[in-house]
Amino acid sequence: MPVHKAKQPPRRIGYGFDSHEFRRGVPLKIGGVAIEHAQGLGGHSDGDVLLHAITDALLGAIAAPDIGALFPPSDPQWKGADSLVFLNEARKRVHAAGYAVANVDASLILAAPKIGPHAAAIRARVAQALRLPRNCVGLKAKTPEGLNLENAAIAQVVALLEKRPAAKQGRRKTRRRKRT
Ligand code: MG
Repeated sequence: MPVHKAKQPPRRIGYGFDSHEFRRGVPLKIGGVAIEHAQGLGGHSDGDVLLHAITDALLGAIAAPDIGALFPPSDPQWKGADSLVFLNEARKRVHAAGYAVANVDASLILAAPKIGPHAAAIRARVAQALRLPRNCVGLKAKTPEGLNLENAAIAQVVALLEKRPAAKQGRRKTRRRKRT
């Protein structure tokens, strides 16, 4: 359901969390980027823990149903699905609600592989998917020190949305052109 436009706050924040278990024989995909590793992340879709958390952050920001409600694991059409499909749907819903994504910031918590060598590619892929400049996609990787979570990958994401200008929402432009 779209957010009522008359009552829209100028900004909205969203938060997303996801975790997936490492599994042998599955390709690893994080942030839409395929990463060489002995194990991938299990799940009904492609197991992209980062894209799932970003998707939920965007959906949460507009108080929409979450990723599990929109793309239920019980639905065979999402088996092995490219998680960019989920992210794209969330972005479209943000747009339809009258907002644009301003920036996202993510923390990835996983023991291996090292994310550093892939961080630039992941940020670029996410930025492209969200139609954002790369400097509006933050990514930090942490190892799960003291958490005993060596077999899991966790993603936490915050997203900031800004109300789109009325003109871009299909309304008539009211602002006059400045005289020079
Ligand atoms: Mg997930």
